[in-house]
Amino acid sequence: MKISKVETFLVRWGDVTRPAEANFGSATAVVAIHADGLVGLGEASPMQGGVASLAVVARDMAPALIGADALDHAVILDRLLHKLIKLGPDGIVTGALAAIDIALWDLKGKAFRQPIYKLLGGAWRTRIPFYASIGNNGARDVDGVVKAVEARFKAEQPSAIKIRWDGARGEIDRDIAGDIAKAKAVRKLVGDDFPLAFDANNRYSIGAAIRVGRVLEDLGYLWFEEPVEYYHPKAMGEVAQRLDITVSAGEQSYTLQSVAALIDSGVRMVQPDIVKMGGITGLMQCAALCHAHGVEFVPHQTQPAIGNAANLHVLATHMRATRPAELADGWSRCADTFVNAPKPDAGCLVVPDGAGLGLAIDEAMLARRRVDLNG
Ligand code: CA
Repeated sequence: MKISKVETFLVRWGDVTRPAEANFGSATAVVAIHADGLVGLGEASPMQGGVASLAVVARDMAPALIGADALDHAVILDRLLHKLIKLGPDGIVTGALAAIDIALWDLKGKAFRQPIYKLLGGAWRTRIPFYASIGNNGARDVDGVVKAVEARFKAEQPSAIKIRWDGARGEIDRDIAGDIAKAKAVRKLVGDDFPLAFDANNRYSIGAAIRVGRVLEDLGYLWFEEPVEYYHPKAMGEVAQRLDITVSAGEQSYTLQSVAALIDSGVRMVQPDIVKMGGITGLMQCAALCHAHGVEFVPHQTQPAIGNAANLHVLATHMRATRPAELADGWSRCADTFVNAPKPDAGCLVVPDGAGLGLAIDEAMLARRRVDLNG
């Protein structure tokens, strides 16, 4: 399967009549790899629109891909990582490699006419329970949080809900009493037995995290995500070890070594993201690492189409699925382009069963949303 062409482009979200530049921070960063008349699609980490990762693919990776055999997948990825490792293994390069990995899996699935989960070893399930991941609650008052949660609770009928704080990273311990009031109000809204999670988005000191975590334990929340800055794995581990509630982290890990450091520190649920952490191959490696250490593997996922579908193929084949899959705000924003992208269905997302990722594309809509950056 000789690779003949590599394309990099953005699929911008929102109003397509706006100037393309206005959408750079809100777009899906796509890599398309052509071989034998087939096209595989992958997605890079969307930080700053994924523009930097796409530039690295176009300039530094595509020349090495052209002419290579797509079935030499693992060799290609390791060669590219080590060719570019001095650009930094965390961030732009690994986000780019994640896109290439997903595209190569999509291509292989199309070549073998099988869904990716079959190539990964088969599915334990093709209906995956999801949780509604609801962001920006740091900026809302208590009533605003309740309204935002109620809207998605009713509209999507999720299997669980996670409330996220998001917001500015410098605002450590800004409103602990307010945060606790919001956590209590959401518990009251959904009832005592409904599964809830709380995502601090790195915004507490160790002491405040423990204080908030104790309240979350009393309120029956299931997990407490990124209570402290992710780049202090020892601090994350200290919070995890001092609380009974499950403390999770890992969405900002770009390497297996970084996930291993979190596990070593004492974190017992890790959340790598497929568009950062090595694509499908990277997540399968993380799943093995977690299994070896008895740690929960619960991927982070915020992308509306390619990333979400790729993540679901991995979850389908993962035996120990302990938590629902993430469905973030704005999950429907590519629905006019990727027309069968998974959407809520009685508390679940259904893994596409077509070849490769199984995503069907409205080509006319894709042409309207597509922005070519690199010639
Ligand atoms: Ca998070």
